[in-house]
Amino acid sequence: MKTVYLDNNATTRVAPEVIDAMMPFFKDLWGNPSSMHYFGGQVARHIDKARQQIAALINADPSEIVFTSCGTESDNAAIFGAVEAAGQGVKIITSRVEHPAVLGPCGRLKERGYNVMELPVDASGQLNPADLRRELAGGPAIVTIMWANNETGVVFPMDEIARIVRDAGAMLHTDAVQAVGKTPIDVKKTPLDMLSFSGHKLHAPKGIGVLYIRRGTKVKPFLLGGHQENSRRGGTENVPYIVGLGTACDLAMKNMDDEATRVSALRDKLEKGLLAACPDVRVNGDRAHRLPNTTNLSFQYIEGEAILYHLSDLGVCASSGSACTSGSLEPSHVIRAMGVPFTAAHGSIRFSLSRYNTEGEMDYVIEHMPAIVAKLRALSPFVPS
Ligand code: PLP
Repeated sequence: MKTVYLDNNATTRVAPEVIDAMMPFFKDLWGNPSSMHYFGGQVARHIDKARQQIAALINADPSEIVFTSCGTESDNAAIFGAVEAAGQGVKIITSRVEHPAVLGPCGRLKERGYNVMELPVDASGQLNPADLRRELAGGPAIVTIMWANNETGVVFPMDEIARIVRDAGAMLHTDAVQAVGKTPIDVKKTPLDMLSFSGHKLHAPKGIGVLYIRRGTKVKPFLLGGHQENSRRGGTENVPYIVGLGTACDLAMKNMDDEATRVSALRDKLEKGLLAACPDVRVNGDRAHRLPNTTNLSFQYIEGEAILYHLSDLGVCASSGSACTSGSLEPSHVIRAMGVPFTAAHGSIRFSLSRYNTEGEMDYVIEHMPAIVAKLRALSPFVPS
């Protein structure tokens, strides 16, 4: 059975160029970059090069790049580190549609007595900047708002958000795990303080993340230990993965425009094809402000999980926003925050593409979906008669 992989917001294939770049650091160049001797020193030079490649993708200074183990660690480090530096009394502002890697730390801070405010989104999954402005009026604040949503692909107006936060004298962290490599980011133009991303979402391996920290930002280190990363994150560097991420960022930077055009054309073909081939399907999320690779579709009256099982039998990998909690399938917090009606919320499916997808794969999904939908609707008690 062939695999049609349309779950790239979950993880991506490691690019062959990235694997090639990493291999010498497993086989020959395995020294510790902190060692005084030549064997470690030569490895350190490759970390420096990767740091430059990674910084270039977001137009940062290499000294502002801190390596972590994943996007989740970067988010935790940013939020807890900023709150510790700011002290009790600081307000935390986030959104209802963040990834658990942000909602988790914010929830913990709430338990510890911090004032945590979650901004709502509208039916298209968009934030209203006026809500943010209002919440910032009350005193010192740390804002953590994602650049792009992992479930819907909706891109928030980060330039406007960053200006509002800066004008209020507050601090801004953004979870850009889904945005980096897919959409241009320039931290010299967008006045944010910290930005998280993760290697495995842009064709580098799982287990490497980045926290960009603008020079001068007040943030306490999250992992205490050695003096690696200028004492901002202890722990011996994961050299092969750092080098791999450098190559992945280089590839993303060189190909981003062409790739966005090609991938969004494939995504649009899939979306249009499914809307035409299956009745009662709706698109979730702001189509005008979306990542080029993502579509979130609701197949009304049926369960997303059931669709996924049938697709999986055909080799098609996608994902649904539902989480199986306490035996009942609940729509995801993102879909619920958007107020998607009950009959559509349960049937939401995310297709997320990459540079490795083809037109033939889109045709394959469009060809097989109508039969899956018809079969499941025939069994559904929710279809209106
Ligand atoms: N933030 C967002 C928006 C994500 O989509 C993900 C992963 O899906 C993460 C954070 C967590 O990244 P990681 O898997 O590298 O910990």
